[in-house]
Amino acid sequence: MNVLERVNEKRIEEYARLVVRVGVNVQPGQEVVIRCPAEHYVFGRLLCREAYAAGAAEVVMRWEDAPCSREFYLHAAEENLTQVPDWTAESYNYYARRGACYISVGGGDPEAYKGVDPGRMHRREAAMDQALKTFNAKMMASEIPWTVVAVPQRQWAAKVFPGMEADEAMGRLWEMILKAVRVDGGDAVKAWEEHDRFLKDKCRMLNDYGFEKLHYQNSIGTDFTVGLVKNHIWEGGSEVAGTGVVFEANMPTEEIFTMPDCRVAEGRLCSALPLSYRGNLIQDFSLTFHEGQVVEYQAKEGEETLRSILEADEGSRRLGEVALVPYGSPISQMKTLFYNTLFDENASCHFALGRCYPTTMKGGEKLSAEELLAVGGNQSMNHVDFMVGTADLMITGILPGGEEIVLFENGNWAR
Ligand code: ZN
Ligand code: ZN
Repeated sequence: MNVLERVNEKRIEEYARLVVRVGVNVQPGQEVVIRCPAEHYVFGRLLCREAYAAGAAEVVMRWEDAPCSREFYLHAAEENLTQVPDWTAESYNYYARRGACYISVGGGDPEAYKGVDPGRMHRREAAMDQALKTFNAKMMASEIPWTVVAVPQRQWAAKVFPGMEADEAMGRLWEMILKAVRVDGGDAVKAWEEHDRFLKDKCRMLNDYGFEKLHYQNSIGTDFTVGLVKNHIWEGGSEVAGTGVVFEANMPTEEIFTMPDCRVAEGRLCSALPLSYRGNLIQDFSLTFHEGQVVEYQAKEGEETLRSILEADEGSRRLGEVALVPYGSPISQMKTLFYNTLFDENASCHFALGRCYPTTMKGGEKLSAEELLAVGGNQSMNHVDFMVGTADLMITGILPGGEEIVLFENGNWAR
């Protein structure tokens, strides 16, 4: 623990408690799997302690290390890259079948995988995706509680605050993260309840409308219409797992989101923030869609990386998530590029290329992959969020009868 972590010790403990109690909402007798970078061992141990304090039957620590994973991606033989050992797969699937909850701790060097062949990473991910089918299906359908959180790390802090002295940068990043997750000196659990109510109100409003399409416009060149699947559901904030347990899949979270029809998208979308993808930055880019598919794209920087995303598979050229975040949201107001999707996507209206969330459609979690695809639910193995929300973004909802309702004006909720 460094000096700054000691200063913040009480708040960091409260953060760990919040992750366990509100994030995955550990139940007595439940198994808890914690994926944690080895360098975040202090926070990992706090989570472990809090999970047992909440009554966990067993806490399974999965310590990971990006520099070692990088060596694997660089040097592993092709057959090792594309074959996942049974025990690795089972270490996820087994606990998922038993109804364990999953905490994933992020926050690493944004450039950890810089220079690694994206093709090799994609092939590994495809193999993992296949091997971890049981786990992924239960997680994507929110059958089991899971949460993704982040803690600061040196290279990350240095990237966010270039030129700043290392300890100061770490301290700043801790301050921002704790603020973003509402560990702010007050009652964090209560703050989350209030925030959750706000998000749920917005979801209710949009679900009552049942829009067919959304139209986006702003001054940086976005003029874009996206279709929503029939019976889509706007979701945001807490979710209910198969067991009835309420959990928060992302901490922080400022978005409400739903399922686009991956066959219906027309026009041009311009990025509002750079996209940091596996250590590579994609800046000032635009995507032009026709019949749901990206037919043209350009980027001032990182076009090669953008291409690798779009060419990963058929669904990677289509959308799988539409998310609304007001420009006035707390993370947006920090006016900081975090180089980390968990934070950057919560600072701005965004879309994701790739896989949809089955729960964002009525009965979607009961449909097979083929059935979902047939109604417009993207089945890509990827899910890459990119930000489009600006201070002057206007979003209009279009009802099935053609009536238009202004939803966002000047980047914020209009109603
Ligand atoms: Zn999102
Ligand atoms: Zn997303």
